[in-house]
Amino acid sequence: MTRDHKIAVEMSQAWLKDNTKRYAFKKLEREIVQTGACVECGSCVAGCPVDALTGERVESKYTPTLTGKCTSCGICYAMCPRIAMLEKDIIGEYRSVWKVKALDGHRRQDGGAVTAILGAMLDKKLIEAAIVVGHSKDNLWLPAAKKVTTKDELLTSGGTFYTHAQVVEQMTNCFKENLSNIGIVGTACNIDGIHRLQSHPGSIFNVDPKPPTAFKVSLFCMESFDYKGLVEFLKKEEIDINKVERFAIAKGEFMVTVGRETKNWPIKDLDYIASSSCAYCTDFTGMNSDLSCGNIGSDDGWTTVIVRSKQGEQALKLAIEEGIIEAEKLDENAIQAVINTARSKMHKRYKLESPH
Ligand SMILES: Cc1cc2nc3c(=O)[nH]c(=O)nc-3n(C[C@H](O)[C@H](O)[C@H](O)COP(=O)(O)OP(=O)(O)OC[C@H]3O[C@@H](n4cnc5c(N)ncnc54)[C@H](O)[C@@H]3O)c2cc1C
Repeated sequence: MTRDHKIAVEMSQAWLKDNTKRYAFKKLEREIVQTGACVECGSCVAGCPVDALTGERVESKYTPTLTGKCTSCGICYAMCPRIAMLEKDIIGEYRSVWKVKALDGHRRQDGGAVTAILGAMLDKKLIEAAIVVGHSKDNLWLPAAKKVTTKDELLTSGGTFYTHAQVVEQMTNCFKENLSNIGIVGTACNIDGIHRLQSHPGSIFNVDPKPPTAFKVSLFCMESFDYKGLVEFLKKEEIDINKVERFAIAKGEFMVTVGRETKNWPIKDLDYIASSSCAYCTDFTGMNSDLSCGNIGSDDGWTTVIVRSKQGEQALKLAIEEGIIEAEKLDENAIQAVINTARSKMHKRYKLESPH
C-alpha cells in the first residue's frame, strides 16, 4: 500500500468510526450477497483496506468472498451501492429543518404548514395557482387533483389522502391555460415526475419565450394504498370509507377516525394493499422539492418542514413574517428521526435490517 493510500484509508476509517457503526463483512454478506441484492460491482472488494476480500466468478456469478482477516472497519458495507449511510443520500441536500404550526386554528393533517405556506404565496402573488387535492364526488377518499387560485379556496383543502393523485396532470392543464407560476403538492413520486419534466429539453417547462415554473412541496411518504384495497380492508373492519373523517399514519400506526372513534393498526398490516408502484420507491422525503413536509420529527399538531431551495426559504420566511405560522428550528435528534425513517424505507426495498 502506498503512503497516500494508507493515509486515505486511515481517514476513511476515522470518519466511519465517528459517523456510523463499524461492521464486519459478514453483515454485507448476509444482507446483500446472500439475498441477491448484490450488483456484482466489486466496490466492497476495491474498498477493503486490508485486502481481505476477493471477488470471484463462481458459475458465472461474481461473488465477493472473505479470503483474509476482516477487521470490521465497515468500509465494505459503506461502499456498497445498495446501502444508504450518508445523510445526503438518505434525505437529500437541505438548508434547514423546522417544525411549523399554522396559526389560523383550523385542524389540518398535522401542523397545517403546507396549506399555510401556499396560502401566503398565493396572497402575495408569488404563485398564480396551487395544485392540491380534494374529495371526489362519489368516492370521498379517492383524491381529485384541483387548481385553486385564492387563499380562501385553498383553505378548503388540507388533510392526507393515502392514494395516488394526478397533480402533475392538473399542473400541465394550468400551463395550457397560460398560467405560468404554479405551487404544487405531492408525494416524492409526483415531485420526481415534475423534476423529470423540468430537466427534459422537450417538456412543457422548456418552451420559449417564458418557461413556466413550479414551486414543489413534497409530502413525506412511506407508501400509499391501492384505493380498492383500502376500501376492502376497511370493509373487513366494518368501516364504510365514505364515513371516514380522517386518515393518518404516525409512529408506525395507520389511524382511521370515524365520528368520535379512532382505530389503529400497525402499518405493516396494510403492506399488502400498498400501491404496487411503492415497491420501486426509495425516497421518503421527496429530495427534488423546494420544501418537504411530514409529521415525523415533530410533536403532534406540528409539521416537520425541510427547506431545500432559496425559494423554499423565502416562502417559509414570508409565512413567518405574515404571522401565519409559528416555526422553530428542529434539533439534531428530531432530524435523526426523519433520517432513520427515510433509511428504513430505502432498506425495505432490499429487505435489509436498519443499520442503526
Ligand atoms: C400517501 C401519503 C403518505 C404519507 N406518509 C407519511 C409518513 O409515513 N410519515 C410522515 O411523517 N408523513 C407522511 N405523509 C405526510 C403527512 O400526511 C402530511 O401530508 C404532512 O405532514 C403535511 O401536513 P400539513 O398539516 O402541513 O398539511 P396540510 O396543510 O393538511 O396540507 C396537506 C396537503 O397535502 C395534499 N395532499 C394530500 N394527500 C395528497 C396526495 N395523495 N397526493 C398529493 N397531495 C396530497 C393536500 O391537497 C394538501 O395540500 C404522507 C402523505 C401522503 C399523501
